[in-house]
Amino acid sequence: MPGPGSAHNSGVKFRTVSLVSAICLTAALVAQQQKSKPEDTEVWTPVPPVVTPGDGTAAPSDAVVLLGKDGLGAWINNKGEPSSWDFKDGVVTVRQGAGDLVSKQAFGSCQVHLEWRTPAEVKGSGQGRGNSGLFFMGQYELQILDSYENKTYVNGQAASIYKQYAPLVNASRKPGVWQSYDAVFDAPVFEGGKLKKPAYITVLHNGVLVLNHVEIKGETVYNGQPAYHPHAAKLPCYLQNHGNPMSFRNMWVREL
Ligand code: MG
Repeated sequence: MPGPGSAHNSGVKFRTVSLVSAICLTAALVAQQQKSKPEDTEVWTPVPPVVTPGDGTAAPSDAVVLLGKDGLGAWINNKGEPSSWDFKDGVVTVRQGAGDLVSKQAFGSCQVHLEWRTPAEVKGSGQGRGNSGLFFMGQYELQILDSYENKTYVNGQAASIYKQYAPLVNASRKPGVWQSYDAVFDAPVFEGGKLKKPAYITVLHNGVLVLNHVEIKGETVYNGQPAYHPHAAKLPCYLQNHGNPMSFRNMWVREL
Protein backbone atom coordinates (compact mmCIF):
# COMPACT_ATOMS: atom_id res chain seq x y z
CA MET A 1 0.00 0.00 0.00
CA PRO A 2 1.52 3.33 -0.99
CA GLY A 3 2.31 5.59 1.97
CA PRO A 4 2.55 9.40 2.32
CA GLY A 5 4.83 10.91 -0.31
CA SER A 6 4.42 7.95 -2.60
CA ALA A 7 4.29 8.32 -6.41
CA HIS A 8 0.48 7.90 -6.25
CA ASN A 9 0.01 10.87 -3.86
CA SER A 10 2.46 13.00 -5.88
CA GLY A 11 0.36 12.44 -8.98
CA VAL A 12 -2.83 13.57 -7.23
CA LYS A 13 -1.07 16.67 -5.84
CA PHE A 14 0.33 17.54 -9.29
CA ARG A 15 -3.07 17.26 -10.95
CA THR A 16 -4.66 19.40 -8.21
CA VAL A 17 -1.98 22.10 -8.58
CA SER A 18 -2.36 22.05 -12.39
CA LEU A 19 -6.13 22.46 -12.12
CA VAL A 20 -5.77 25.37 -9.67
CA SER A 21 -3.18 27.01 -11.96
CA ALA A 22 -5.49 26.67 -14.97
CA ILE A 23 -8.41 28.19 -13.06
CA CYS A 24 -6.22 31.11 -11.88
CA LEU A 25 -4.91 31.73 -15.41
CA THR A 26 -8.42 31.69 -16.89
CA ALA A 27 -9.62 34.09 -14.20
CA ALA A 28 -6.69 36.42 -14.90
CA LEU A 29 -7.42 36.40 -18.66
CA VAL A 30 -11.11 37.09 -18.09
CA ALA A 31 -10.18 39.96 -15.74
CA GLN A 32 -7.79 41.41 -18.29
CA GLN A 33 -10.36 41.15 -21.08
CA GLN A 34 -12.91 42.90 -18.90
CA LYS A 35 -10.42 45.73 -18.23
CA SER A 36 -9.44 46.29 -21.92
CA LYS A 37 -11.74 47.48 -24.67
CA PRO A 38 -11.58 46.66 -28.43
CA GLU A 39 -11.04 50.38 -29.06
CA ASP A 40 -7.74 50.25 -27.14
CA THR A 41 -6.07 48.52 -30.09
CA GLU A 42 -7.58 50.67 -32.86
CA VAL A 43 -5.27 53.19 -34.56
CA TRP A 44 -7.00 56.11 -36.34
CA THR A 45 -4.12 58.41 -37.32
CA PRO A 46 -2.16 59.17 -39.38
CA VAL A 47 -4.61 58.39 -42.16
CA PRO A 48 -2.87 56.80 -45.22
CA PRO A 49 -2.98 59.08 -48.29
CA VAL A 50 -5.57 58.24 -50.91
CA VAL A 51 -4.12 56.76 -54.13
CA THR A 52 -6.30 56.04 -57.15
CA PRO A 53 -5.18 52.73 -58.67
CA GLY A 54 -4.68 52.55 -62.43
CA ASP A 55 -6.85 50.33 -64.62
CA GLY A 56 -5.05 47.03 -64.98
CA THR A 57 -1.34 47.80 -65.04
CA ALA A 58 -1.73 51.55 -65.64
CA ALA A 59 0.09 53.90 -63.29
CA PRO A 60 -1.53 54.70 -59.93
CA SER A 61 -2.21 58.38 -59.25
CA ASP A 62 0.96 58.91 -57.17
CA ALA A 63 3.39 57.29 -59.64
CA VAL A 64 6.03 58.99 -61.77
CA VAL A 65 5.42 57.83 -65.34
CA LEU A 66 8.74 57.21 -67.09
CA LEU A 67 7.37 55.48 -70.18
CA GLY A 68 3.88 56.42 -71.28
CA LYS A 69 2.36 57.80 -74.44
CA ASP A 70 4.35 61.03 -74.44
CA GLY A 71 7.77 60.12 -75.77
CA LEU A 72 11.16 60.02 -74.08
CA GLY A 73 10.98 63.29 -72.17
CA ALA A 74 11.82 61.55 -68.89
CA TRP A 75 15.07 60.14 -70.29
CA ILE A 76 18.54 61.06 -71.51
CA ASN A 77 21.49 59.02 -72.74
CA ASN A 78 24.74 58.36 -70.84
CA LYS A 79 26.19 61.67 -72.08
CA GLY A 80 23.26 63.67 -70.73
CA GLU A 81 21.83 64.26 -74.22
CA PRO A 82 18.29 63.49 -75.43
CA SER A 83 17.98 59.77 -76.11
CA SER A 84 17.75 58.60 -79.73
CA TRP A 85 16.15 55.24 -78.99
CA ASP A 86 13.16 54.66 -81.27
CA PHE A 87 9.82 55.71 -79.85
CA LYS A 88 6.44 55.00 -81.41
CA ASP A 89 2.94 54.69 -79.94
CA GLY A 90 4.16 54.36 -76.37
CA VAL A 91 6.79 51.73 -77.21
CA VAL A 92 10.52 52.48 -77.04
CA THR A 93 13.06 50.22 -78.74
CA VAL A 94 16.80 50.02 -78.24
CA ARG A 95 18.84 51.71 -80.96
CA GLN A 96 22.24 50.13 -81.37
CA GLY A 97 25.12 52.41 -80.43
CA ALA A 98 22.81 54.96 -78.79
CA GLY A 99 23.85 54.17 -75.22
CA ASP A 100 21.56 53.36 -72.31
CA LEU A 101 18.25 55.00 -71.44
CA VAL A 102 18.95 56.98 -68.26
CA SER A 103 16.14 58.51 -66.19
CA LYS A 104 16.36 62.26 -65.61
CA GLN A 105 14.85 61.82 -62.17
CA ALA A 106 16.79 60.15 -59.36
CA PHE A 107 15.18 57.52 -57.16
CA GLY A 108 15.95 55.72 -53.91
CA SER A 109 13.61 53.10 -52.48
CA CYS A 110 10.77 52.56 -54.91
CA GLN A 111 8.12 50.37 -56.47
CA VAL A 112 8.54 49.87 -60.22
CA HIS A 113 6.35 48.52 -62.98
CA LEU A 114 7.98 47.85 -66.36
CA GLU A 115 6.84 45.99 -69.45
CA TRP A 116 9.40 44.61 -71.89
CA ARG A 117 9.52 42.51 -75.02
CA THR A 118 12.32 40.44 -76.50
CA PRO A 119 12.63 40.25 -80.32
CA ALA A 120 10.14 37.88 -81.95
CA GLU A 121 12.85 36.73 -84.31
CA VAL A 122 15.27 34.71 -82.19
CA LYS A 123 18.90 35.54 -82.84
CA GLY A 124 21.87 34.47 -80.75
CA SER A 125 21.85 32.38 -77.61
CA GLY A 126 22.60 32.60 -73.90
CA GLN A 127 23.42 36.14 -72.81
CA GLY A 128 23.38 37.29 -76.44
CA ARG A 129 19.64 36.75 -76.86
CA GLY A 130 17.24 39.53 -75.85
CA ASN A 131 19.57 41.05 -73.27
CA SER A 132 18.87 44.27 -71.40
CA GLY A 133 18.50 45.13 -67.74
CA LEU A 134 16.89 47.51 -65.32
CA PHE A 135 19.64 49.11 -63.22
CA PHE A 136 18.30 50.45 -59.94
CA MET A 137 20.26 53.54 -58.90
CA GLY A 138 22.45 52.86 -61.95
CA GLN A 139 24.20 50.15 -59.89
CA TYR A 140 22.07 47.08 -59.25
CA GLU A 141 20.87 45.10 -62.26
CA LEU A 142 17.61 43.24 -62.46
CA GLN A 143 18.42 41.19 -65.55
CA ILE A 144 16.21 41.28 -68.63
CA LEU A 145 16.82 38.41 -71.03
CA ASP A 146 14.99 36.12 -73.42
CA SER A 147 15.00 33.12 -71.08
CA TYR A 148 12.38 31.11 -72.94
CA GLU A 149 14.15 27.83 -73.65
CA ASN A 150 17.49 29.62 -73.67
CA LYS A 151 20.18 28.11 -71.46
CA THR A 152 22.63 30.34 -69.62
CA TYR A 153 24.04 30.62 -66.10
CA VAL A 154 20.98 30.78 -63.85
CA ASN A 155 22.10 33.86 -61.93
CA GLY A 156 22.17 35.63 -65.29
CA GLN A 157 18.79 34.57 -66.68
CA ALA A 158 15.69 36.77 -66.80
CA ALA A 159 14.60 38.05 -63.38
CA SER A 160 17.96 37.33 -61.78
CA ILE A 161 19.90 39.92 -59.84
CA TYR A 162 22.77 39.64 -62.27
CA LYS A 163 25.53 37.33 -60.99
CA GLN A 164 23.97 37.36 -57.49
CA TYR A 165 20.60 35.57 -57.39
CA ALA A 166 18.76 33.23 -59.73
CA PRO A 167 14.98 33.71 -59.78
CA LEU A 168 12.90 31.20 -57.79
CA VAL A 169 11.24 30.06 -61.03
CA ASN A 170 11.48 30.84 -64.74
CA ALA A 171 8.23 32.68 -65.57
CA SER A 172 9.34 33.76 -69.05
CA ARG A 173 6.93 34.16 -71.93
CA LYS A 174 7.80 33.32 -75.53
CA PRO A 175 9.95 35.67 -77.66
CA GLY A 176 8.02 38.63 -79.03
CA VAL A 177 5.39 38.56 -76.26
CA TRP A 178 5.10 41.41 -73.76
CA GLN A 179 6.30 40.56 -70.24
CA SER A 180 6.25 42.52 -67.00
CA TYR A 181 8.28 43.18 -63.90
CA ASP A 182 6.85 44.52 -60.68
CA ALA A 183 9.57 45.22 -58.17
CA VAL A 184 9.98 46.68 -54.70
CA PHE A 185 13.48 48.00 -54.20
CA ASP A 186 14.82 49.06 -50.80
CA ALA A 187 17.78 51.34 -51.37
CA PRO A 188 20.99 50.76 -49.41
CA VAL A 189 21.86 53.17 -46.62
CA PHE A 190 25.38 54.52 -46.11
CA GLU A 191 26.65 56.36 -43.05
CA GLY A 192 30.07 57.88 -42.59
CA GLY A 193 31.25 56.36 -45.86
CA LYS A 194 30.26 52.86 -44.76
CA LEU A 195 27.36 50.56 -45.54
CA LYS A 196 24.76 50.75 -42.76
CA LYS A 197 22.00 48.73 -44.46
CA PRO A 198 22.22 46.74 -47.73
CA ALA A 199 19.67 46.98 -50.51
CA TYR A 200 16.82 44.47 -50.76
CA ILE A 201 14.57 43.60 -53.65
CA THR A 202 11.34 41.71 -54.25
CA VAL A 203 10.30 40.98 -57.84
CA LEU A 204 7.29 39.56 -59.64
CA HIS A 205 7.85 38.42 -63.24
CA ASN A 206 4.59 38.25 -65.19
CA GLY A 207 2.82 38.29 -61.82
CA VAL A 208 4.86 35.39 -60.41
CA LEU A 209 7.05 35.93 -57.34
CA VAL A 210 10.65 35.30 -58.43
CA LEU A 211 12.77 37.16 -55.86
CA ASN A 212 11.50 37.36 -52.30
CA HIS A 213 13.18 40.16 -50.36
CA VAL A 214 16.72 39.14 -51.27
CA GLU A 215 19.68 41.08 -49.95
CA ILE A 216 21.66 42.65 -52.77
CA LYS A 217 25.37 41.98 -52.28
CA GLY A 218 26.67 45.15 -53.91
CA GLU A 219 27.11 46.83 -57.25
CA THR A 220 26.54 44.55 -60.24
CA VAL A 221 29.81 43.47 -61.82
CA TYR A 222 30.48 41.22 -64.80
CA ASN A 223 33.79 39.94 -63.45
CA GLY A 224 34.63 39.51 -59.77
CA GLN A 225 32.67 39.81 -56.54
CA PRO A 226 30.01 42.47 -55.95
CA ALA A 227 30.75 45.13 -53.35
CA TYR A 228 29.10 48.32 -52.15
CA HIS A 229 30.55 51.72 -52.92
CA PRO A 230 28.94 54.59 -50.99
CA HIS A 231 26.68 56.72 -53.17
CA ALA A 232 23.90 59.30 -52.99
CA ALA A 233 20.55 58.43 -51.42
CA LYS A 234 18.87 58.89 -54.81
CA LEU A 235 20.27 58.15 -58.28
CA PRO A 236 18.86 57.74 -61.80
CA CYS A 237 17.85 54.29 -62.96
CA TYR A 238 18.62 53.06 -66.44
CA LEU A 239 17.61 50.55 -69.07
CA GLN A 240 20.58 48.75 -70.53
CA ASN A 241 21.52 48.87 -74.19
CA HIS A 242 23.06 45.45 -74.80
CA GLY A 243 22.73 45.76 -78.56
CA ASN A 244 19.59 43.63 -78.90
CA PRO A 245 16.46 45.38 -80.27
CA MET A 246 14.49 45.13 -77.05
CA SER A 247 11.26 47.08 -76.57
CA PHE A 248 9.77 48.67 -73.45
CA ARG A 249 6.50 50.33 -72.52
CA ASN A 250 4.40 51.37 -69.53
CA MET A 251 7.06 52.04 -66.93
CA TRP A 252 6.16 53.83 -63.75
CA VAL A 253 7.81 54.36 -60.39
CA ARG A 254 6.38 55.05 -56.95
CA GLU A 255 8.86 56.51 -54.52
CA LEU A 256 8.73 54.85 -51.10
MG1 MG B 1 21.65 42.66 -68.91
